[in-house]
Amino acid sequence: MDDQHKALEYFRAQCDELGARLLRLQEELTQARREARRSQALARTIQQLHAFAEDLDGADLGEQPLGEKLLMLMIERLRVDQAALLRWDRDIDRFAVIETVGLTRQAVSSIEPAATGTAKPEPANDLLERLGIASGAWVATPALGWVLAIGHRRRDTAPERPIEPGDQAVAEAALKVFANLMERRVITTALRESEANYHELFDSAQDAILVMDTKGTTVVDANRRAFELFAFSRETLPFVQPANWVMPADLPRWRRLWRAVLRARPQQIESRMHTAEGHAFWAEVTLKRVPTMKPRILAVARDISARKRAEAEVRHLQERLDLALEGAEVGLYDINVETAEIIYDERFVRIVGGDSSKVPRTISDWQACIHPEDLPAVTRLFDDTLSGRCPRMQLEYRFRHQGGVWIWLLDRGKGFDYDDAGRPRRAAGTCVDISDRKVSEASIHRLAYYDPLTDLPNRRLFLDRLTNARAASQRDGTFGAVFFLDLDNFKQINDARGHEAGDRLLQQVAARLGALLRKQDTIARFGGDEFVILITGLGRSETDASRFANLVGEKVRRTLVPPVRLPEGEASTSASIGITLFRGHEISVHDVLRQADTALYQAKDSGRNCIRFFEPRMQRAVEERFNLERELRHALSRDELRLYYQPQVDRAGRLAGAEALVRWHHPSRGLISPSAFIPLAEETGLILPLGRWVLAEACRFLAYTTAYGCDLQVSVNVSPRQFHRSDLLTTVHENIAYTGAPPERLTLEITEGVWIEDLQTAAEKMAGLKGLGVNLSIDDFGTGYSSLTYLKRLPIDELKIDRGFVQDVPGDTSDAALIEAILAVCQRLRIRSVAEGVETVEQHQFLRSRGCDAFQGYLFGRPSPEETFVESVTSSPNSTSRRVDRQVRGTSAPSGPDSA
Ligand code: C2E
Ligand code: CA
Ligand code: CA
Repeated sequence: MDDQHKALEYFRAQCDELGARLLRLQEELTQARREARRSQALARTIQQLHAFAEDLDGADLGEQPLGEKLLMLMIERLRVDQAALLRWDRDIDRFAVIETVGLTRQAVSSIEPAATGTAKPEPANDLLERLGIASGAWVATPALGWVLAIGHRRRDTAPERPIEPGDQAVAEAALKVFANLMERRVITTALRESEANYHELFDSAQDAILVMDTKGTTVVDANRRAFELFAFSRETLPFVQPANWVMPADLPRWRRLWRAVLRARPQQIESRMHTAEGHAFWAEVTLKRVPTMKPRILAVARDISARKRAEAEVRHLQERLDLALEGAEVGLYDINVETAEIIYDERFVRIVGGDSSKVPRTISDWQACIHPEDLPAVTRLFDDTLSGRCPRMQLEYRFRHQGGVWIWLLDRGKGFDYDDAGRPRRAAGTCVDISDRKVSEASIHRLAYYDPLTDLPNRRLFLDRLTNARAASQRDGTFGAVFFLDLDNFKQINDARGHEAGDRLLQQVAARLGALLRKQDTIARFGGDEFVILITGLGRSETDASRFANLVGEKVRRTLVPPVRLPEGEASTSASIGITLFRGHEISVHDVLRQADTALYQAKDSGRNCIRFFEPRMQRAVEERFNLERELRHALSRDELRLYYQPQVDRAGRLAGAEALVRWHHPSRGLISPSAFIPLAEETGLILPLGRWVLAEACRFLAYTTAYGCDLQVSVNVSPRQFHRSDLLTTVHENIAYTGAPPERLTLEITEGVWIEDLQTAAEKMAGLKGLGVNLSIDDFGTGYSSLTYLKRLPIDELKIDRGFVQDVPGDTSDAALIEAILAVCQRLRIRSVAEGVETVEQHQFLRSRGCDAFQGYLFGRPSPEETFVESVTSSPNSTSRRVDRQVRGTSAPSGPDSA
């Protein structure tokens, strides 16, 4: 090969190589150019994105218009003809199609995610296909959930504009910008919202809130309440100087506090502050440093003036309470109900004597210290409290002081710590010694209600008592009486011997009256020598009441008759007394007093030292009685009494005996019935001489009839007063012995009342009488209180069925039943039965058929004088039975009560 050929070969080779290099270079150049163009496009895109971002930042657009802008940008820059923006929608678990450009299948609204299993969802691979993008790519921001798809509609256009990695990077960058932008918008909206919320909170806060600089000289911001409290406004805010609000004296304290706050320790202070306008108030201020870019101090201030005032008041009250507890010596106790133990404070111990070892430790020890009179009430209230029936108690009672005296305690207590049954487990309370108060109360009471000279109730108390007495009398229908009493010559004594003598006389009169009257009676002094007496419970009968009132009046009059001995000599104290009766509210209090006063003037008019009743009727009754009593006294000595005899017949109708019944042949008034004077004789004691006379008379009669051969039983009535006399046995014995009357023929009639008070003594006395051989009969059986069982325990021979039961038989079935029962018992106990007041044949037949032993009554004969009786017995032994026959046959009975 020639050199030329070699050279040619070499050149050829060089050319090939160069050509290849050129080609390569050309290619690289093209590539580089394309690259350059692309990065230029990228740079521009980025630039545009920035502009776009900047542009969009201010605009208030939603994600859809923004998304549209993004898609338009893609289509413009990357020359794709399709683009879609999707976003992960957590609610439907799919990618929602937000915006599309150039897509025909608009119907697609959402795309399901790929089953990648990762936490960040990505669309499935067929995303483009589903969207109708023939060739393209998609990018995503998995963290924020956005997906952007770009591409070409038809595959055949694709080679022209394939999607290259560079395009993808642009799309990705754009999407990121967009996503971040969207994110920022969300955040700023939230921020704006929370800022608005914050401002609203800030302004509506109840506390004043101030934002200050760290020097505390400027207020940067403040809420509405702060403007109110510190009296400034948003306009004057720049000129406000917070230091001016602090009281000068408090400044050092504030400075210390401020320094602490600056060291980031929140502080709280209560301090007096005042506004520029001079309004002062108490504030509680909390200070806190806020670590913002520029450090600030946040102050929260609250007006606590009201709280401070309340606190001061409480403090004040507590001080006063302490003082009061100390000063009033209030003792405290605390009871453990379950263990019955009591604990006390030292004040309580001091009140009861000071020795804590002697203080009662249990409820029963404590009760032992209470005055017996107060104990029932205390125990009742205490039990009510401890059983939960009563929530609290307050009472006053006497408590034994360790020194032995009684002190008055005011005890206020209550239960607490209640169990399920509503009973307190504990009770506590206070005790105060109110002895002094009690003493002064008592003395005030005495001053208000008592006459200081005589210590008797005064007019006021008397009126109180009279009012109560009227109410009581209204309730039970009994009479009461008021006495006006006036000393007959008090004025003369007072004038002649001086007031001191007069005073002493009044005191003596008061003392005599006090000794005479019962505890329930009231003696009052109305002033001067005017005394007033109130007596109550005088019974339901006006006659009895006036009799009793007169009796009391007489006692009062007599007790004042003996002269009073005074240092100045003796003084006569006789009194005139006016009496009036009252019952319930028949007359007013005022009228009661007026009537008694009128009666008093009548007494004075009648010559003093005497008693007058207001009512003339009462006056007459009293006078009559008074006269009767005087005359009865003389009746015995003047031989005005007579014994009458009333026959008793046996079952065969034979005269079996007689009851002696006394009569008074009054010289002017004629025959007086024993029912009119026996009660008076009982009351005055005249029954004793009278009864002795009757007994003697009857014994004489019995001896006489016996001597004449009459087999008669004679009954004598023995009054309760007579029965109770210790000399009854002797009297009976003497009369029997003296007259020679056979004791077995003598029957003593006594009433059930004699053993009502003392059965034992009565039984002994009856046994004594039985020992004398006489018979004992129970008179008026059934009217008294005794039951049939007594009959077994007393030595009784006879029983007289009272007239009251006999008079209605056989018509009245209950009386009939009663009589049957009495008769049955008599038969069982072998006691002779006598029926009194037998007036009709029917009565007689009924009684006889039921087994009654003897009969007494007008049917068989009226009480008649001894002579008449003896005559009828002696003239014919059968005269009585004949008379009975006559009456039974229908002859009319004598008209008078007694046959003379
Ligand atoms: P008394 O002991 O129950 O006497 C019976 C009374 O009933 C007598 O009344 C008598 O007259 C009356 N009487 C008798 N039969 C009938 C009758 O068929 N119908 C009616 N309506 N009455 C009849 P008198 O004599 O007026 O005595 C009354 C009371 O006085 C006596 O009741 C007696 O308690 C007491 N008394 C009478 N005399 C004495 C006495 O000497 N001493 C004592 N201590 N009391 C006497
Ligand atoms: Ca009798
Ligand atoms: Ca009788």
